[in-house]
Amino acid sequence: MSKQSLPWERIGRGKNRPEKPTMLVDLRRCIGCHACSIACKTEHRVPLGEFRMRVRWLPRPDRPGISFLPLFHAQTCDFGANRTSFGMLPACVDACPTGALQFGDAADPDTQVHQAARNSRAVPLESQAPTRADVRYIGLEAWHPDAIHAGVELSPEDSDIIYEQGRHG
Ligand code: SF4
Repeated sequence: MSKQSLPWERIGRGKNRPEKPTMLVDLRRCIGCHACSIACKTEHRVPLGEFRMRVRWLPRPDRPGISFLPLFHAQTCDFGANRTSFGMLPACVDACPTGALQFGDAADPDTQVHQAARNSRAVPLESQAPTRADVRYIGLEAWHPDAIHAGVELSPEDSDIIYEQGRHG
């Protein structure tokens, strides 16, 4: 049997690593499944109760129910540098089943991220203190109007922790 090359060997180290990386989050597609945050935890061996990125569940502004807001920690999330250094996508992007996360160089007009951000008027959280500044959200005004200016706490005990510790139901 011939030796199979690993994905990063085929792509080539650093080939697709963006100079100015941007994460684009399409809130219209996010179903709050936590695949992204759990993939991140697995990839980086993040201890229980801690997160490099996470998905907050928040009340819907327009009717009863919840909506979802993926957040990326300014202090700990490096957009999967261990993978992007090899031309791969961050684990969270690879794991997302709905295509809600896109990653690339938003300054490069040839990239899908650039075109999607421009066409959808993606915006960042204005109060970014605990979260990365280079994350842009599609649908933020409709889904989380309060969060645009006020930001969102990263640490309250909510759905992510309940999920990973099996305390739901
Ligand atoms: S994996 Fe995708 S759909 Fe699931 S919570 Fe994360 S961003 Fe949303």
